[in-house]
Amino acid sequence: MAQSSIEWTEMTWNPTTGCTKISAGCKYCYAEVMTRRLQAMGIEKYKDGFAVRMHEDALYIPFTWTKPKIVFVNSMSDLFHSHVPVEFIKKVFAVMNDTPQHTYQVLTKRAERLFELQNQLAWTDNIWMGVSIEDSRVTHRIDFLRQTNAKTKFLSCEPLIGPLINLNLENINWVIVGGESGRKARPIKEWWAWDIRQQCAEQGVAFFFKQWGGINKKKTGREFGWKNL
Ligand code: SF4
Repeated sequence: MAQSSIEWTEMTWNPTTGCTKISAGCKYCYAEVMTRRLQAMGIEKYKDGFAVRMHEDALYIPFTWTKPKIVFVNSMSDLFHSHVPVEFIKKVFAVMNDTPQHTYQVLTKRAERLFELQNQLAWTDNIWMGVSIEDSRVTHRIDFLRQTNAKTKFLSCEPLIGPLINLNLENINWVIVGGESGRKARPIKEWWAWDIRQQCAEQGVAFFFKQWGGINKKKTGREFGWKNL
C-alpha cells in the first residue's frame, strides 16, 4: 500500500504483485520497471521480481485505514492474471465487500478471465471495474466488461497508442485517456483524444483526460479543453 501518484486515485493496494505482458500497451510496463527497482533495493515483497505472487499479509491492509479512501487495486500486477487463483481473487473481493467505506478501482487487461469469474464474485457498489484499451486491437475487452455485474465500469485508454473510433460505450460509466510517459513513449495524437472525448459526449459518458505523456508529462502539458467532464 502506498500513497499514489496516479491522478484519478488516492492510494494503491497490492495484494498481488507480478505479471506477464499480454498486449501492446504492456510494452513499457511501469509495474515491471518499478518492480525491478524495488527488487534491487532488497524489498522483501518483490524478491521474486515480476513473477506473479500472492501476498496474504497485504490482504487486510484496507481495514487499517481510518478514513475512506479511493484505492487503485494492484498497480503492480493484474488481479485477473491466470496465475492468480480464483480463491485468492475471492479473498480480495471479500475485503472490498467488507470495507464499503473505501472505493476500489480494479483495472485489468484480462477481460476474458474477468468475465469467466464474474458470477463467482460479489459486486458491492464500492468496486469500480475497468479494462485497459490501448488501441483498436483490444476493444473486445469492453464487451466482456459490459457483461459484468460491476455497478461502475470504466475504460483506461492509457497509454493510448492508436485511434479508437466507433466505440460502443453502452453501460460504461467513464473513460480515462492518457498518453504514454517516459523516454521511449509512443506519442499520442491529439485527434485520438478529441475523438474519444466527442464519443463520450455523444453517448453520455464521463471523460477524464489525464496527460499527453512524453518525457516530462507536466512539461508536455495536461491541458485539454474539456478536461474531467
Ligand atoms: S497487464 Fe499491466 S501489469 Fe501486466 S504487464 Fe501489462 S501493463 Fe504490466
